[in-house]
Amino acid sequence: MQDCLFCRIIAGEIPSDKVYEDDRVYAFRDINPQAPVHVLIVPKKHMANVLECDGETAAALAEAIGKIAAQEGVAEPGFRVVSNCGRDGAQSVNHLHVHLLGGKALSERMA
Ligand code: AMP
Repeated sequence: MQDCLFCRIIAGEIPSDKVYEDDRVYAFRDINPQAPVHVLIVPKKHMANVLECDGETAAALAEAIGKIAAQEGVAEPGFRVVSNCGRDGAQSVNHLHVHLLGGKALSERMA
């Protein structure tokens, strides 16, 4: 999508710190990290948020989460995945993305 920040990152028009890529998924470090490991995992196909996510994309994201967690060394002792959705979900970029956070003991609070 022409004016989508994450579509432009995937297309290489805006630089990113890439950590993983396959035919369906692109992942890069968050520009404003909230944990020592903070990676955004994004489907290459534009969709606004999890409400538009199809099964194949969900499976590709899940597979990528496991690979990236291992690659980043956080599969053990653990990590968090979050996908903000809509205004009350505090979604600021309208291209589906999963935050992978880890590298420290995270807060028990979610909201
Ligand atoms: P959300 O608030 O869930 O929509 O998350 C959007 C995330 O994108 C935020 O954590 C931002 O820090 C991050 N972000 C925004 N612009 C960039 C960028 N150019 N490169 C990397 N991360 C970005």
